[in-house]
Amino acid sequence: RAKRDHRGQHLQFAAPMGAEARDRAVLLAELRAAIENADLFLVYQPQVHLDTGDLIGLEALLRWRTADGRLVPPDEFIPVAEHSGLILPLGRWALETACQTLRELQTAGLAPARMAVNVSVVQLRDPGFFDMVCAALSTNELQGQHLELEITESVVVLPTQLLQSTLNALRAHGVTIAIDDFGTGYSSLSYLEQLPLDRIKIDRTFVQQLGAPQGGRVAEMVVQLGRKLGLQVLAEGIEDATAWQTLQAMGCHDGQGYHIAYPMDKAALMRWLAQA
Ligand code: C2E
Ligand code: MG
Ligand code: MG
Ligand code: MG
Repeated sequence: RAKRDHRGQHLQFAAPMGAEARDRAVLLAELRAAIENADLFLVYQPQVHLDTGDLIGLEALLRWRTADGRLVPPDEFIPVAEHSGLILPLGRWALETACQTLRELQTAGLAPARMAVNVSVVQLRDPGFFDMVCAALSTNELQGQHLELEITESVVVLPTQLLQSTLNALRAHGVTIAIDDFGTGYSSLSYLEQLPLDRIKIDRTFVQQLGAPQGGRVAEMVVQLGRKLGLQVLAEGIEDATAWQTLQAMGCHDGQGYHIAYPMDKAALMRWLAQA
């Protein structure tokens, strides 16, 4: 917060906090404009069953291409959107667009079973969230089973009752729930038993350690934990055949990653699906 001295002039923001705040304000203004100009789009990454290689679903990921052709990574702009509340319209657009794409693919006979969409804790807290999800599904003639929502450990900041009732309502509607980036948050493990979940996603940092000596221990532990809890386990960031085989041998059910396919825009995805 800027302070005024006795002459009423603004004092300089102290670096680095001031610089960050300015950057964020600029980014926010640019993001608002990008949404208006439709400079945001979704890419889709296939998820497969490790035993058979069969496609089990797609994950929708947001992309922002600026006027000069630069791609801004979501890790940069999602936090800004969350702070400003812009994540509500943005997240809604992503969900609706992902549902529309899944419907289009199914109509084209390229029917992947399910679309996974990342949701922010800010969206989950919104009282209209459940109705918004139901509307996105029914508008696109989809069932709850066609949708998976990916949440992160950050949801533990929400009141447990709100969280449980929202997730229970979604699951009663057929929507499945995945916990994303598992093991990278700060929460205790107890929420795993309290939350109604269907899937654990092993964070790619643990998958990338598979190549190192003793590097697979965390991934293996997460697979065992997930299986013990009766959850499906999906590894993200599978970048080579060795990682695939190692995870499969550990009992990990499913996976996604550059070795299987990169996230693709809709046109590239349709070509990929037609070949597969
Ligand atoms: P995430 O949901 O954990 O997504 C996985 C990230 O790993 C994606 O990064 C994806 O492009 C990347 N990835 C996939 N396979 C590989 C691989 O083999 N190797 C490596 N190194 N990376 C791989 P991306 O697209 O930059 O997304 C980053 C994060 O941004 C996502 O992490 C998610 O938390 C967030 N995000 C993306 N789209 C949305 C959205 O629509 N809503 C919300 N709330 N968050 C989103
Ligand atoms: Mg995700
Ligand atoms: Mg993840
Ligand atoms: Mg992530």
